[in-house]
Amino acid sequence: MDNYMKIFQGTAFSSKSPKEIQILKDYLFCINAEGIIAKIAAPEDSDYQLLLDRYQGMPNFHRLADGQYFLPGFIDLHVHAPQWAQSGTALDISLYDWLNTYTFPLESKFSDLDFAKKVYNDVVSTLLGNGTTTALYFATVHKEASLLLAEICADKGQRGLVGKVVMDDPEQNPEYYRDADTRTALADTEQFIVAVQELAKSTKQGVYPVVTPRFIPSCTDEALKGLGELAAKYDAYVQSHCSESDWAHGYVQDRFHKNDAFALHDFGLLRDKSVMAHCNFLDDHDVDLFAETGTAIAHCPISNAYFANSVIPIAHFQVKGVEIGLGSDISGGFSPSLYDNIRQAVISSRMLEDGVNTSLPASDRGVPGSRITIHEAFYLATAGGGESLSLPIGRIEENYAWDVQVVDTKLPSAKLPIFNENENLDDVFQKMMYLIRPEHIREVWVQGEKVHSR
Ligand SMILES: [Zn+2]
Repeated sequence: MDNYMKIFQGTAFSSKSPKEIQILKDYLFCINAEGIIAKIAAPEDSDYQLLLDRYQGMPNFHRLADGQYFLPGFIDLHVHAPQWAQSGTALDISLYDWLNTYTFPLESKFSDLDFAKKVYNDVVSTLLGNGTTTALYFATVHKEASLLLAEICADKGQRGLVGKVVMDDPEQNPEYYRDADTRTALADTEQFIVAVQELAKSTKQGVYPVVTPRFIPSCTDEALKGLGELAAKYDAYVQSHCSESDWAHGYVQDRFHKNDAFALHDFGLLRDKSVMAHCNFLDDHDVDLFAETGTAIAHCPISNAYFANSVIPIAHFQVKGVEIGLGSDISGGFSPSLYDNIRQAVISSRMLEDGVNTSLPASDRGVPGSRITIHEAFYLATAGGGESLSLPIGRIEENYAWDVQVVDTKLPSAKLPIFNENENLDDVFQKMMYLIRPEHIREVWVQGEKVHSR
């Protein structure tokens, strides 16, 4: 029998397919020194008892208490780390005012490393406490502060994918907050990539540099082209915003006479390691291009309700085979919790299906076939996110990283409404998806290491 670093016993929920979960009732999970799930044993398996005999009672054996469950750690595909400092404010104004009155002045303050350290420490801890084990971050234009965010992720044990933001067009960006010029933007990005790849060598859970044009409107053609070349040279992740709102979608059509997706592709920015936020206005050709290139969508349902002028047809996109995960879009989305975004993804899809304008007859009001279930939204926050990043995360399965949350449904101060000791576990799962708050998340593990407990 192999030697395992840690053994866990308990009931876990994980996606089997986009529509179905699997329930691993009272299984054993054996974790190796790299933090990977090396073996999973069901109670009926022949070596289950052998493993129990060998490990039970040892310091590295962990058994869940009654009412506790394992869930995969969540994967947040779209976070603006600096904007955590303004989460929950200014959501009643237009995107233009939101950017110019609040967001750009705030982001410009991250030239101050002391301020950056305060906010970044807090946002990484907060996300971990909400069960987010992997996050794809926009930092700011500042190279040093962006590297600091990567270091904080490395230090706190979160799997961080971090981008130094590029916004170099002097016509489109305020003088107090943009790259000095195109050459500097590209040089800073390259130095940032090299520094994060160096940091990754000593980071167990991984930390990754991300090529990050803010969105097409903020970048010159030369910068977009140079960033595509850097992504190819370093085989790096790419993130940006794509076809988010009427304005953003229309801007790119006016400038390039094509949709965002094809314009980004022309600059080499749609790759297997690309994740594009929002994408509400993609047409079928755009979605096919995403599927062909392996580009993923970061669906940000709370943010969309404020800034996207629309509900994304997520069920339709899923059928077309494109990879999709969930994003909080702090602070366009106010919540650091992917539980909140799972709930909103379902709610928004229901409103798209039925429609909302009661002056129309029911038959004309909505878009049939648009709803997704809570199981599908859970898939987006977990396995869908892992596939989007092409990493072995988001599932509780052999050869996946031990990235999990331990949730407690029997917390005395916040018990979930489970009154039957033998309640159907799928019903328990649904209650957890709708009712869990941060206090129910008792432990969070990343790559086999405990990174949060309360
Ligand atoms: Zn965003």
